[in-house]
Amino acid sequence: MGGIAVDARGRSSIDGLWAGGEVSSTGAHGANRLASNSLLEAVVYAARIADDIAGRTIPSPARLPDALVTPRGGAPDAAAVKRLRATMAAHVGVIRESEGLADAVRHFAAVEREATSMALRNMAVAGLLVAASAWSRRESRGAHFRSDHRAEIPALAQRTMTTLTAAREIAESLSSLPRAAQPMIA
Ligand SMILES: Cc1cc2nc3c(=O)[nH]c(=O)nc-3n(C[C@H](O)[C@H](O)[C@H](O)COP(=O)(O)OP(=O)(O)OC[C@H]3O[C@@H](n4cnc5c(N)ncnc54)[C@H](O)[C@@H]3O)c2cc1C
Repeated sequence: MGGIAVDARGRSSIDGLWAGGEVSSTGAHGANRLASNSLLEAVVYAARIADDIAGRTIPSPARLPDALVTPRGGAPDAAAVKRLRATMAAHVGVIRESEGLADAVRHFAAVEREATSMALRNMAVAGLLVAASAWSRRESRGAHFRSDHRAEIPALAQRTMTTLTAAREIAESLSSLPRAAQPMIA
């Protein structure tokens, strides 16, 4: 649960990239809505983003990060995508625990490092952010259930932010621990 941090106009920290709806994190619903997003929010932010885009000069593609303009590497290998999904379902599903999450983090980090397809890398990045965040949250809260940390910890009842750099650092810190499964990158 979470998404790309945006302001009240739906702007992300990358100039020319707006995020709205399920992919974004606005905090608009506070603690009232478990997964933070709703159809109403998607509609409201779609309108705000459209207004914001209409009122400003969009950066030319030359100024946008490469990855946003030209996805490289073609279609992802179907078997590799299947393994990403299987890892997500096995270790980052309804019931999570430290070892399984660590396996998932290592798997996603390895795919991110080694994949030649940009599309596959993007999938691995999304998985890595979710798994590393779930590994770090050593409590159970809402739909995040840790079988090794079953209780809610009141001090952790707050919105948190992370970055890809932080997720990669978690993967790095876990890389010296034993691996249950090799990533098998295609
Ligand atoms: C079970 C369930 C019940 C819900 N009940 C409610 C409710 O009662 N009330 C309420 O307000 N909200 C509810 N929600 C939340 C609401 O459905 C979502 O917040 C809303 O649908 C988000 O809309 P969205 O357009 O941002 O994302 P989505 O509806 O997820 O749309 C994203 C679209 O992008 C497409 N896509 C993904 N990747 C790519 C790609 N690489 N290239 C091209 N296209 C891509 C997907 O196929 C999809 O069509 C519910 C959600 C769920 C899962």
